[in-house]
Amino acid sequence: PQFTEFGLAEPLLKALAEEGYQTPTPIQEQAIPLIMQGRDLLGIAQTGTGKTAAFALPMLHHLASRPAQAPRGGCRALILSPTRELATQIADNVRSYGRHLGLSSTVILGGVGARPQVQALARGVDVLVATPGRLLDHVQTGAARLQAVEFLVLDEADQMLDRGFWPAVRKLAAMMSWKRQTLLFSATMPTDIVKIAKQVLKDPAQVSV
Ligand code: AMP
Repeated sequence: PQFTEFGLAEPLLKALAEEGYQTPTPIQEQAIPLIMQGRDLLGIAQTGTGKTAAFALPMLHHLASRPAQAPRGGCRALILSPTRELATQIADNVRSYGRHLGLSSTVILGGVGARPQVQALARGVDVLVATPGRLLDHVQTGAARLQAVEFLVLDEADQMLDRGFWPAVRKLAAMMSWKRQTLLFSATMPTDIVKIAKQVLKDPAQVSV
């Protein structure tokens, strides 16, 4: 299949052409149609397979095809990542794929000053990429609100579990509406991840590469 067969918004296809992407990778081929149907998804895939575009493209399509004001202090789409490096990389990719859509995005990481993050969140952003601990801090001070999250991605869930982030992730997820669409990606699928997936996903489709 070609990227043009997924029904993605034209500005996304334009960005992909500019990136030089010609054909979808296997994870993109499997995951994008399911996510475009609105399904929750459990994806087993490693970094390097193209999984960032597999979730970011349909996420950006979702935001662009349902224009709405980003909620003050909150976001419409949230991507949780286990590390600062991965979060930064995801945000770069989201900005690149979304460059013709006019959406706003910001990154919230631990280990750096909180005040600029609070300011960036205050007006509301379309896409927020965050590490769980620092985002939970902002939620607990009232600087961040998650009630309006429509689209949630938990990336590298096994790493989040290994780093002890799961209690934070669960608290964050508990504040969001059940009307959201949720995707969970993990390189491995130990029983702990299966349990976790059941807590946050609704009748998920599964893909694996
Ligand atoms: P990821 O697994 O998301 O970290 O992506 C790995 C690398 O593959 C990144 O540098 C992407 O820019 C690149 N990439 C992702 N999808 C495609 C594609 N369909 N065609 C060419 N390169 C891609």
